[in-house]
Amino acid sequence: MPLVRVATPLTFSGSQAPLGQQCIDLASTIETFAPPLAQFENLYKDIHQHPELSCSEARTSSIIADRLQDLGFDVRQSIGGHGVVGVLQNGPGKVVMLRAELDALPIQEQTGLSFSSTKRMADMWGRDQPVMHACGHDMHMACLIAAAKLLHDARSAWAGTLEVLFQPNEEHTGGAQSMIDDGLYEKIPKPDVVMAQHLMQIPSGTLSIKSGPVLVSADTVKLRVFSSEGHAANPQVSVEISVVVSKIVLRLQDLVKEVSKDGYASIHVEELHIGAPGLDWVEYADVVLDVKAYDPSLRSRLLDGINGIVEDESTASGAAKKPCITSSVRAPLTNNDGHLAGRVGQVFADFFGADKVLQELPSHPCEDFSILARAVQSPYVFWFLGRVHPEDLERARRDGNVLDKIPIEHSAFNAPLIHPTLETGMKALSVAALSFLTEDNTC
Ligand SMILES: [Zn+2]
Ligand SMILES: [Zn+2]
Repeated sequence: MPLVRVATPLTFSGSQAPLGQQCIDLASTIETFAPPLAQFENLYKDIHQHPELSCSEARTSSIIADRLQDLGFDVRQSIGGHGVVGVLQNGPGKVVMLRAELDALPIQEQTGLSFSSTKRMADMWGRDQPVMHACGHDMHMACLIAAAKLLHDARSAWAGTLEVLFQPNEEHTGGAQSMIDDGLYEKIPKPDVVMAQHLMQIPSGTLSIKSGPVLVSADTVKLRVFSSEGHAANPQVSVEISVVVSKIVLRLQDLVKEVSKDGYASIHVEELHIGAPGLDWVEYADVVLDVKAYDPSLRSRLLDGINGIVEDESTASGAAKKPCITSSVRAPLTNNDGHLAGRVGQVFADFFGADKVLQELPSHPCEDFSILARAVQSPYVFWFLGRVHPEDLERARRDGNVLDKIPIEHSAFNAPLIHPTLETGMKALSVAALSFLTEDNTC
């Protein structure tokens, strides 16, 4: 591996001073201290076989806390639910936070793996559900624990503070805020930089990193639309509420088509409730919408458009009451700091080789990761970790059936290729962290 040289003075927002000229032997540090992967592969398989739903990650967080304690990290548990943070203070220097997620999904696994999950558990509404790590959070945890081991063993080569954070309840995008609300930054030092990675359907052994928006913003909009005066016995004098709601849903799709001309925009009807058994009069209908965009101006056009359409149709139907419309941020835009993404991308290119570092994005998922950085105005970067066998992907691309043959995140068939995904993820986290924790090293 070549010596990694960062010779250009670099700054990134949130930094108080230029980073200055550095000469960092990151590559030999990583190769010297990279641990054997067998124990982390076993950890991955164990967590995969014993997944836990959002807000119920007790076993997983306990295993993670034990591992960090064994490594000598100062461990804080039960933050914002089952959140865990390990802190390794190693003299003066930057504070670097690396983050992974603890939770799994209510999905019946169909991968056929020997260590498949057969687990079932009650979700937060008390419903019995199958459980599967279909989003790859098990691999994220194994990579981060392996990176914690590498960085701990390499502590003679760096100075500063390393924070490894394991967030609960990412799938409902509530866990990051819960950790903040539970006083996260009263328990650990404020990070100078926050970083995380997520699996993606690109070749195992590659990474993808871009500046700017990389994950969509998601808003939840709740509508309550009221019926007009009248009742089921006199339909001729009233407007059927199902017709009003149908018109609204159709016009929302027209709105999406219009806004999409200028960039990605999506409105998904997540829930629709009208009436109840035994009731012949329906007073109102409830609709829950999921609204996604990368561009804040398109997001505003979608939210404004929803308000206009719902009020129009409600008025036109002669509704007895004005509609109730409330919106809340489910996940803010994940908008990578440009300087930081460029810098970490260069570190990856130098370490892994430029041909291993892509600039592709997944199909419009969202995340609450950035809340951990926004809460303390720290810069952040989020990159993607390849998980697919390169030959499988090549064949699917050649045959034009990538969507059929390569499972996406949240698929019951989603199983990352363990090698070299685990090694690449461990080294990506480690080399990115070291690039900040070795800033005072000189040539
Ligand atoms: Zn997910
Ligand atoms: Zn995920």
